Amino acid sequence: MTKLLVVATGNPGKLREMQAYLADAGWELTLKPENLDVEETGETFAENACLKASEIAKVTGNWAIADDSGLAVNALNGSPGVYSARYGNSDTERITRLLTELGDEKNRQAKFVCAIAVANPQGEIIIQSEGICHGEILFAPSGDGGFGYDPVFYVPEKQLTFAQMTTDLKKSISHRGNALKALVPQLKKVLGAKHSDD
Ligand code: IMP
Repeated sequence: MTKLLVVATGNPGKLREMQAYLADAGWELTLKPENLDVEETGETFAENACLKASEIAKVTGNWAIADDSGLAVNALNGSPGVYSARYGNSDTERITRLLTELGDEKNRQAKFVCAIAVANPQGEIIIQSEGICHGEILFAPSGDGGFGYDPVFYVPEKQLTFAQMTTDLKKSISHRGNALKALVPQLKKVLGAKHSDD
């Protein structure tokens, strides 16, 4: 038996990535209603994921899953953090701002973080997971795949930026991939325990 899980995103790409991990766990994923947007007012990735999951669950009356992600740079005290998407008006502007703020700083350590939350139809948070991918910020963009900060995020173990990786390689090591992997066993458990209700 499958259970419906509303994904708190309007982005079909995100839905597909989640589906690839979660279909096996017995959940059927669907996009949230288009006109339903939740403001990201939290101070942490986890807070934002919880806010979105809870609100979408309550409004739709279904189980809901939400994620929030971004880049945290050590030398900038964790910025842009939860403001990653709002750091500029375009990917180019955001990258330029990041490189300008870092200047010739030698400490280039950074991490991508992804927090995921799942809420039951009452809006209570039942599961949370977090995934991290460590890397370094380059002095100039390299590679043209991916999106966002991918061209300046270099992963030393792979000797590639996110923008130089194949989609499959990025998924297998990314913050989002890691958060989803951690989530699957927990989602299977919920389905096992609750398959008779709602
Ligand atoms: P959100 O989680 O969809 O709100 O995304 C937050 C922002 O973080 C995005 O707009 C990107 O700027 C950045 N971001 C999150 N994940 C990635 C990634 O995998 N690559 C590049 N940028 C990312």
